[in-house]
Amino acid sequence: MAASINGVGGVGFGGLTCSTKTPLPSSRSSSFRVQMSVPVEDKKRNYTLQKSQEAFNAALNLMPGGVNSPVRAFKSVGGQPIFMDSVKGSHMWDIDGNEYIDYVGSWGPAIIGHADDEVLEALAETMKKGTSFGSPCLLESVLAEMVISAVPSIEMVRFVNSGTEACMGVLRLARTFTGREKIIKFEGCYHGHADPFLVKAGSGVATLGLPDSPGVPKATTSGTLTAPYNDIAAVESLFNSNKGEIAAIILEPAVGNSGFITPKPDFLEAIHHLTKENGALLIFDEVMTGFRLSYGGAQEYFGITPDLTTLGKVIGGGLPVGAYGGGREIMEMVAPAGPMYQAGTLSGNPLAMTAGIQTLKRLKAPGTYEYLDRITGELVQGILNAGKKTGHAICGGHIRGMFGFFFTEGPVQNFDDAKKSDAAKFVRFYQGMLREGVYFAPSQFEAGFTSLAHSPEDIQKTVAAAENVLSKI
Ligand code: PMP
Repeated sequence: MAASINGVGGVGFGGLTCSTKTPLPSSRSSSFRVQMSVPVEDKKRNYTLQKSQEAFNAALNLMPGGVNSPVRAFKSVGGQPIFMDSVKGSHMWDIDGNEYIDYVGSWGPAIIGHADDEVLEALAETMKKGTSFGSPCLLESVLAEMVISAVPSIEMVRFVNSGTEACMGVLRLARTFTGREKIIKFEGCYHGHADPFLVKAGSGVATLGLPDSPGVPKATTSGTLTAPYNDIAAVESLFNSNKGEIAAIILEPAVGNSGFITPKPDFLEAIHHLTKENGALLIFDEVMTGFRLSYGGAQEYFGITPDLTTLGKVIGGGLPVGAYGGGREIMEMVAPAGPMYQAGTLSGNPLAMTAGIQTLKRLKAPGTYEYLDRITGELVQGILNAGKKTGHAICGGHIRGMFGFFFTEGPVQNFDDAKKSDAAKFVRFYQGMLREGVYFAPSQFEAGFTSLAHSPEDIQKTVAAAENVLSKI
């Protein structure tokens, strides 16, 4: 596999961040700053991805494309994934010993920082009692109560193991409750990889340029209607031409899977109104936005309460968890309370519940979302300023700890707008930032995430690195 990082566009980026060996991560962010102050010359000399390349070559024979989730393969940014060795706080270390400020956060869960000491200690305590019971346990009820008291739409919740599972379950539930089959989803919104959702999905599907996936029977997607995000007229017309047939609208209340896109003012309210008018359910897929835009999720942030909500990522604190929930009347359709079947061998397992509980406890402390908002705002504004100063068309934004930017003038209000972003420039920017020790999501069509562990110094270094890279591409 080619070492594409060294070959992108022949641009000579000044690599800044590389520790001489994989450090033993310490829990305090001050020690990260010590790490980051290794002299520039040393770092430049030592930047290599040789071990990652070897590991990837070996992995290619073991797993399809060398990975267990497609976007990790770096296909859209140069084809050489970086193998990580350890994470702590806002930083990651790869197997060659390079250090990165991380804005992927394991794709969202790491909102209080990676490998948080309190989470690890709680996990160690829980682990002493075992890793899985396959029977009810008290920890499930603790996390359920926390989720129910935080998220406005949720009176009852069912835990599953991933966001995909949560979306599969919620779709079956909406169909059960309404007795209807059709759903409306939005172009560029991703709701996991279950068949009915693999229609105009964003995220990895968009990254690989696959319009849909082979293997998805037409019959399973024939009830999936799509509209452009932020286009209320398109939704109205779908309701008009499918009267009495639409079970639900599902959407990301702020999109993270086409890059970061916010709803236009009144869009969510209009959608809410249309579902009520047509006897359909409104589903917010808050797998990404839940406990990230605010403690009560996007629905609390925007003040719109859907009928059903899916969650994932943050509520598992880095372990595999998903959930769906809603009003009692709807949720009691789920087995064994009701007829709709859905089950899971490891659902609600004690380790995942523990990591979720500890993570939510930390998020509930006063000032957390204000902090995320401030540092993320500084990050995005810094990158936009750097882009403008160096003559690039660039736009972007953030809400609390979720952000994104595009190499286009914008505004970006839907997936088609997002696709106008200069993809080749994103690759050059991406590779330059890696060499500067900054790890963004390896795709233009993914949101970025900050955490409580990101320090103002992290942000300043990232903005300085961005200005350096942008001045060369
Ligand atoms: N819904 C949304 C909004 C997501 O962002 C994702 C994953 N990025 C999913 C569902 C699927 O979650 P998982 O990868 O845990 O299956």
